[in-house]
Amino acid sequence: MADRCKKVIPGGVGLHARQCTRSAVRDGYCKQHHPNAIKARREASDARYREQLARGPWGQLEAANCRIEALTKALHQMCKIADFMPDDVAELLHAEARTALASAAGAVGMG
Ligand SMILES: [Zn+2]
Repeated sequence: MADRCKKVIPGGVGLHARQCTRSAVRDGYCKQHHPNAIKARREASDARYREQLARGPWGQLEAANCRIEALTKALHQMCKIADFMPDDVAELLHAEARTALASAAGAVGMG
């Protein structure tokens, strides 16, 4: 009575394509070949891949660049605030910010 899964498995080298032999449990597909199951497996695999990339050198570099960008914005903000300070304090803060920005630019290789 149970229908067979309608998934046709492509033939490899020297193999004919064949229909899946498991019984259909949902929408004419077995548990493994149901589109939702395939989608879930692909998403899990993509997530693992993205995690690996994030842990790798390029991912770390990107994360570092994001932090540098955030810190650069904070420094620019600090410079705006420094303009409301007495001149000697403002000059000190601007000098600190210039040094930090130059080192951040060196780190991202933007010169
Ligand atoms: Zn199947």
